[in-house]
Amino acid sequence: MDPCHTCNKDILIEELTFAFDRKWHRSCFRCAFCKEILDYEGPVVESDKVYCELCHDILYKPEYYGYMQMMFDLCSSIWKGTYHL
Ligand SMILES: [Zn+2]
Ligand SMILES: [Zn+2]
Repeated sequence: MDPCHTCNKDILIEELTFAFDRKWHRSCFRCAFCKEILDYEGPVVESDKVYCELCHDILYKPEYYGYMQMMFDLCSSIWKGTYHL
């Protein structure tokens, strides 16, 4: 059995996560940026690292992050009552 892609240790079958043609411990299959344990759906591989969708967008799609930031600013100004339609 191949070792875990993250820690290079053997994996017991009940801990095995198989994703992107690699094997991982369930607890080693984490986003390289926010360290959240990843689910089977959503993760993205970039430069041989796995990221959750959100971190991937932030790191690799800065224009998307700009949009998120804008929405966030808009929401917080609505919450603070400083935004008027
Ligand atoms: Zn591992
Ligand atoms: Zn993440």
